[in-house]
Amino acid sequence: MIINSKTKIVGILGYPVEHSLSPAIFNYVFEKLNLNWCYLPFPFPSTHKISYFLECFKELNFVGLNVTMPYKEVVVPFLDEVSAFARIAEAVNVIHLQDGALIGYNTDGRGFIDSLKEVGVRAEGKTVMVLGAGGAARAVVLSLAMEGAKRIVLANRTRERGEKLAAVLRSRFPKVEALVVDLSAEAKPYLAEADILVNATPVGMDGISKPLDEEVLTALPASSLVYDMIYSPLETPLLKWAKDTGRKSLNGLPMLLLQAQGSFQVWEGSEIELKLLREAAEAALKGI
Ligand code: NAP
Repeated sequence: MIINSKTKIVGILGYPVEHSLSPAIFNYVFEKLNLNWCYLPFPFPSTHKISYFLECFKELNFVGLNVTMPYKEVVVPFLDEVSAFARIAEAVNVIHLQDGALIGYNTDGRGFIDSLKEVGVRAEGKTVMVLGAGGAARAVVLSLAMEGAKRIVLANRTRERGEKLAAVLRSRFPKVEALVVDLSAEAKPYLAEADILVNATPVGMDGISKPLDEEVLTALPASSLVYDMIYSPLETPLLKWAKDTGRKSLNGLPMLLLQAQGSFQVWEGSEIELKLLREAAEAALKGI
C-alpha cells in the first residue's frame, strides 16, 4: 500500500480499539480492490475532548469514521447532521465528512437484521430479550421493532437506561410490547418465552464472563437463538454455553461485516462484496 497526498483516509474512533478487526478488514479490501484508501485506528481516551477530535478530523479533510464503544452516543451532539434512524437510536456508528459537514449514520441495525436473515431468522412476531441499552442495543432494538417483533424485553445493568429505551419504543412503536427487567433472576420468566436472546453488552470479551448467570440462562427455550454481538473472541462463554446446551448460536462477525459493507456504501456510494469482506475477516483472524 502506498500512502500519498491522494489517499482517502477513514478509521475507527473508540476506546479501546485494539479488539477491532475493522482496520485489518478494510485495509485488506482496499489492497485487493487496488483502492488508494487507508483505514486507521483512532483510540481516543478523553470523552470530554471528543468535539476537539471531531473538529481536527474535519480540518484534516479525512473521508469518514466508524464509531465504536463508548462513543456512539457521545458524538451525536457534535455532528452537523444525523440520519433519521441514528437520531431516534441516539447512536451513530458511521460518520461521513461531506462538503465540510460531519454527517452521522447508523448501519448497526440493518447489519443486525440482515445477519439474522442470513441464518433464516425473521424478527416478525418474535419475542426478543436484549441485554444492554447502549449504542448497539438501541440500534438493534429499534430495528427489531421496525421488523415487527412482538415483544422486546430489555435487561440493562443501569435500569433507568433500559426504561428510557423502552419509553422510546413505546412512543414510536405502540404495537410492540416493551418491557424492562434487571440483569438478574427477574429475567427468568421472560427468558422462558424468548425466541431470541441478544447480548449487546461487552460482557464476554474477556473470554470468561457471561452477561447472565447460567442458572438464569437455563430458562431459555431449547429452540431459541442465542446471538452475541461480540466477535472477539468469536466464541464467548455465552455462545459456548448455547452450543453445549444444544441451542442455536450466532456471533457478531456477520453483523460486523454487514455494517462494514453499509459503512463503505455511506462513504463511497458503492458496495464491497460480502465474499471479499468474509475473506478479509478470515485473513484478519489468522493475523495475515
Ligand atoms: P456502549 O454504548 O458502551 O454500551 C454498553 C452496554 O453494555 C451498556 O448498556 C452497559 O450498561 C452494558 N455494560 C457494559 N459493561 C457491563 C458489565 N460489566 N455488566 C453488565 N452490563 C454492562 O457499547 P456498544 O457500542 O453498545 O457495544 C456493546 C457491545 O456490542 C460491544 O461488545 C461491541 O463490541 C458490540 N458490538 C458489535 C457490533 C458488531 O458489528 N458485531 C456492533 C456494535 C457493537 P450500562 O448502561 O449500565 O452502562
